[in-house]
Amino acid sequence: MNTIGVIGAGQMGAGIAQVAAQSGYRVLLGDVSLDVAEKGKAGIAKRLARAVEKAQIEQADADAALARIEPQGDHAAFGQATIAIEAATEREEIKRAIFASLGKVLSAQAILATNTSSIPITRLAQAAPDPARFMGVHFFNPVPVMKPIELIRGLATADDTVARVEAFAQSLGKTVVHANDAPGFIVNRVLLPMLNEAIFALGEGVATVRDIDAAVSLGLNHPMGPLTLADFIGLDTCLEIARVLHEGTGDPKFRPAPLLVKYVEAGWLGRKTRRGFYDYSGAEPVPTR
Ligand code: NAD
Repeated sequence: MNTIGVIGAGQMGAGIAQVAAQSGYRVLLGDVSLDVAEKGKAGIAKRLARAVEKAQIEQADADAALARIEPQGDHAAFGQATIAIEAATEREEIKRAIFASLGKVLSAQAILATNTSSIPITRLAQAAPDPARFMGVHFFNPVPVMKPIELIRGLATADDTVARVEAFAQSLGKTVVHANDAPGFIVNRVLLPMLNEAIFALGEGVATVRDIDAAVSLGLNHPMGPLTLADFIGLDTCLEIARVLHEGTGDPKFRPAPLLVKYVEAGWLGRKTRRGFYDYSGAEPVPTR
């Protein structure tokens, strides 16, 4: 059985591990400790159980997928992985330390891929065991539901690395798109200016939270409005991506909306803090402006 490694058992890493296990891969799942990796697996077990309840998958398939996920307390076993995917916290020094540790165990053919949303792949490649066998593989949240994977090659990434990661991504049933190593890749480059502009419009008093969301979601046929989506993503994350786009391109069109900065300063980060552009403390979200 083909073995892959996933480092980081949070929102994204657990999703990647789940999808890979459901696609027949043996998955080594690491985090800061065995305990945290096991918690990641427990979350996957819950999601699979819900999918069985909803008759989306068979119990036997859920059991088999779960049995293929092996939580790890260190990186020793990752030497068996053909591809290791790093999906740890979005901090460069954390990722660099993981790469250094993996470099001691990964086989000479293994590929190391990162799920970073914002750190340049070519720069991260400097810390990888071999920049030719290193690239970005950007999944979307929630991983079991979202179709695309953006593949990002660094300056030194080999063609064979791209081909092997593309084959892996397709084997997960995902749709592969290729992007260059530019700030925000494709989706965040296009999405963030829209969310940011909705926040500018709110700050300038163009319309209320409810009206901006209703107008954009109905007028553009989007499943939700931009302020609802920003609250989902997390306003701190939105601000971070806006800054990466602004600083990475030097283009003032990406400057973060002042109201976005204020909300983050206030600790109003969206759903995760129960307050963003909506208040989530009651049964239904209530617009705050
Ligand atoms: P998360 O906070 O849910 O999970 C991060 C995990 O990394 C945590 O479980 C944490 O314990 C673990 N971790 C921290 N330090 C570690 C270390 N030294 N070794 C191993 N594990 C460590 O975050 P997330 O949303 O899953 O994001 C993970 C990565 O995926 C980030 O690079 C992020 O930019 C990227 N990403 C996130 C999204 C999203 O919508 N959340 C989408 C695409 C990509």
